[in-house]
Amino acid sequence: MIAVHQTAPAPALTAGWVRALLEPAAAAAGISNPPPVELRPTRWAGYCCAGEVDRRVVLRNTLHLKSKTQFAAVYIHEVTHRILGEAGATDFSHDARFFALQLYLFARLDASSFMKSERIEGALWVHFASLYDLQNAPAGYEESQASSWQGPSIGWAQDIAAELLKLNLSAEDAAKFICTEYPKFLHSLRAMPAELASVKERLRSEKLANSEWRKVNLQTMFFGLLGWAGLVFCVGVRLWN
Ligand SMILES: [Zn+2]
Repeated sequence: MIAVHQTAPAPALTAGWVRALLEPAAAAAGISNPPPVELRPTRWAGYCCAGEVDRRVVLRNTLHLKSKTQFAAVYIHEVTHRILGEAGATDFSHDARFFALQLYLFARLDASSFMKSERIEGALWVHFASLYDLQNAPAGYEESQASSWQGPSIGWAQDIAAELLKLNLSAEDAAKFICTEYPKFLHSLRAMPAELASVKERLRSEKLANSEWRKVNLQTMFFGLLGWAGLVFCVGVRLWN
């Protein structure tokens, strides 16, 4: 017979410990409605699935015992998936939208005096963001050809996060803002090869123009010197005679 178990609320002590860490993190990140947590023995540090009845995110049940900073960072990561999903990004991918929102939430933690004290050896919360969080290419781009989309995505996400810090939006409103801005970014990304080609063409024609200019100048200098030499010779011959 296959025994089937359902998850139960965590013991009060564990739940209290987890809440004491995650509630200040969620508040500092500006998460108005923080999703519940399920502690589960999982090989991933955490994950977030569609269709959970109470919006819960799953975190590995031993992670909080090893590093509370990493535990909070994984919670922020999974909540980023949840909030973006609720704002319309339903594919749970690690794309530029995800990278931008997570960067913004980590930046808010860095700006919070309480969460600053929770950092490991002065490392910033934004240092938890890595290329793992930007591993999915936009439609029409190859993930293996990251140079064509990953660099521009990082730049865009950093600009968006900086803009959001000025606006001081809640995490949920920030997700909506990012989802509105994302199509504009994709449009500019797709226009980029044409722009690059025109810049290269301009540089090439400027280089050609410069080399032509140098050639003309050398010719002018040569004939100028020849003229001067001729004049000096004539004057010298005249004086001598
Ligand atoms: Zn993820």
